[in-house]
Amino acid sequence: MTTRRSFIAAAGAFAATGAAAEEETPLPPQRGIRVRFLGSGAAGWKPEWLEKHPCMRRQSSVLLEGKVLIDFTECAFDMIPEGCRPEALFQTHSHGDHYSPKAAVKSGVKRMYVHETWLAAAKSAVAAAAAKLELPAPEVMPVSFGVPVEECGLRITPVPANHSTSRVTDGVLERTALYLVEKGPSRLLYATDTGGITGDAARMAGIDPHITAGNYMNYIKSGTCVAEPKAITALVMEATDADFDDDFRMFVHSSVQVVHRTVEMLKRYGRFTPPEGQPAYITHLGLKYRDWSAEMIDAELPEGLRAASDGLEIVLG
Ligand SMILES: [Zn+2]
Ligand SMILES: [Zn+2]
Repeated sequence: MTTRRSFIAAAGAFAATGAAAEEETPLPPQRGIRVRFLGSGAAGWKPEWLEKHPCMRRQSSVLLEGKVLIDFTECAFDMIPEGCRPEALFQTHSHGDHYSPKAAVKSGVKRMYVHETWLAAAKSAVAAAAAKLELPAPEVMPVSFGVPVEECGLRITPVPANHSTSRVTDGVLERTALYLVEKGPSRLLYATDTGGITGDAARMAGIDPHITAGNYMNYIKSGTCVAEPKAITALVMEATDADFDDDFRMFVHSSVQVVHRTVEMLKRYGRFTPPEGQPAYITHLGLKYRDWSAEMIDAELPEGLRAASDGLEIVLG
């Protein structure tokens, strides 16, 4: 079965596998979250380059556990394994390199989640796309920051990104989201698009070192929205600005240095505890890497970081 292809998991371990992986090997009990990168590029990559560009990156999208999409556009259809039927789609935001009502309808997902601030706009756009395509529309549902949704065995919590679409729906500015994805002891923060990690996101995910086991209850008693201090075990974060830390997009995107500093700080304070050898992955890569393979990028990344690439499937512990 293609949906099982390249999925090798061992307790607490992670695995990156290629097309030659065993097709029918019985799976051990799974620990970790299976992540398939359908796309790992930023908005500058043009889908029409796909045919002639060996290092092409599709627009950023992931498929979790073969069931749940985060962001999805037309160019990533060919990265969905044959026979795989995603059930749900979570949108980080409404930029065109992440969100396509037409692709959402064609994907066949039953439920689509968007932040409550742009629910009405998403509902009408998805209904219009479904009518035009003469296909069923997914149910479009709102998510709120800090409030988890259970989908396909995953607990998925939206937290605020540092990003902007400037979209206003009924007088309300869209708020953009990152997602904390939890399964058993595995806690993955999927962070694109964003300039660093916001304070609210860190507190809602339990990774702000200000909040400790000792003072957590004080925060709760004072009515604040903070999660119990808890480490993430996996991180996928955008690095649109590549190695240019002073990039003009720094208010809304991150550089490799920002990801690296985030990783190092969180590790120092025990808030990022990946299984041994498991790197943090960078995604939503910009055009600096237009002619670079993932291996070439990895060679210049700081230790502990690795580049995502389209079709890469891993199990993050
Ligand atoms: Zn983007
Ligand atoms: Zn964006």
